[in-house]
Amino acid sequence: MTVTLDAEVAVIGVGTVGSMLMWQLGTRGVSAIGFERHAPGHDRGAVGGETRLFRMAYAEGPQYAHLLRSALNCWRELERESGTELLVQCGGLAIGSAAGRHVGQVLASAAAADVPVELLNHDQAAQRYPQHRLLDDEVAVLDTQAGFLRCEPAVLAATALAEQRGAAVLRYTDVDTVLDNGDHIEIRAKDAAWRVREAVVCAGSWTDRLLPTGWDRLLQPRRVRLSWFAARDPAMYTPDRFPIFIRQTGRRHFYGAPSIDGISIKVAGLTTSHAVDDPDRIERRHSQEELVAESAMVRDLLPGLHPDPVRTDALTDMFTADGTPFVGRIAAGSRLRIASGFSGHGFKYAPALAAVVAESVASGTDTPLAFMSPIRLGRI
Ligand SMILES: Cc1cc2nc3c(=O)[nH]c(=O)nc-3n(C[C@H](O)[C@H](O)[C@H](O)COP(=O)(O)OP(=O)(O)OC[C@H]3O[C@@H](n4cnc5c(N)ncnc54)[C@H](O)[C@@H]3O)c2cc1C
Repeated sequence: MTVTLDAEVAVIGVGTVGSMLMWQLGTRGVSAIGFERHAPGHDRGAVGGETRLFRMAYAEGPQYAHLLRSALNCWRELERESGTELLVQCGGLAIGSAAGRHVGQVLASAAAADVPVELLNHDQAAQRYPQHRLLDDEVAVLDTQAGFLRCEPAVLAATALAEQRGAAVLRYTDVDTVLDNGDHIEIRAKDAAWRVREAVVCAGSWTDRLLPTGWDRLLQPRRVRLSWFAARDPAMYTPDRFPIFIRQTGRRHFYGAPSIDGISIKVAGLTTSHAVDDPDRIERRHSQEELVAESAMVRDLLPGLHPDPVRTDALTDMFTADGTPFVGRIAAGSRLRIASGFSGHGFKYAPALAAVVAESVASGTDTPLAFMSPIRLGRI
């Protein structure tokens, strides 16, 4: 019996990667249905908090270089098509001990990927960026192509363009089940069902719930905290004077973005994220213990900020054991693919990754990002 398809492709989760994938499928003329349990741009997943860092000199390794280069073009294309400013290339600093792993990895990765950077010794960095109180052995690597992305408008822009090209985005539709029926994929939400040729699960912190048993052992949602601190002199923290930064000082690893509201600076601690059992039940408020630790860090290292945050939040992202996402078919030959586990760093390259996935879905071929393949863990 021939199955009537509702669309070629289903995208489950229209968040960061899902919205970019819908846009990229639309660009290729592939009919798609997106399912989103809230509405694109919401702040109950990994999108929220106004900005995401974009970096080219990438400590995570030169294997990302191709995606990052392509992402730069994709962001500009999304800006052109939507008429929305999304990426501000104000530069970025990687700060840490001159002999430490963080600075070493950034330099090595930049050299391997041919990304231009400037190494500032302690005095140069301290003079140029007095907003940071540097320890005696600390230096900074300046990546002039780095900057920040406006995350909510980016998701909204990609979704709108996909819809303009004929895609259906089903808002407030919580997918319960995704079934691989061999010759098609069936998606169920409440009493309704849809059939498509292929499906991509981009459900962020909820991805494992829609996949066969076993994936919950490979994917772990984590709570990531964000805090905003008021500047004593806001003029010192505008994008032209205060690049984004990632800093490893002793055991403290944190990052931040310049002020976009003229009042506060966002600072987030990476290593203080922690595993959560249920991403729908995270504590968004910071505990007193967390606030005390954050204040101490800011008082020590960012003296131009009032050390008690004026605003805080916490969101979740899905993490993998090795920090590298899973992107590809969930089993050899399956019509069901996954794009998840972006482990706290997937926003910057999302549209480029989506372009690769869209291309492979459109052509029915495997997704050619070997280092992200679920196969790498011997899963399939
Ligand atoms: C606080 C924080 C700061 C970060 N900072 C940076 C940064 O500076 N730079 C950077 O590059 N990356 C950063 N990241 C990481 C980046 O934001 C994430 O890796 C990326 O946004 C993940 O995208 P995603 O599409 O996997 O998940 P999401 O964007 O969360 O999208 C998943 C979507 O699936 C939907 N969904 C889930 N289940 C269902 C279902 N059953 N049915 C229908 N819809 C469903 C959800 O509602 C959600 O909209 C940060 C992450 C966090 C949390």
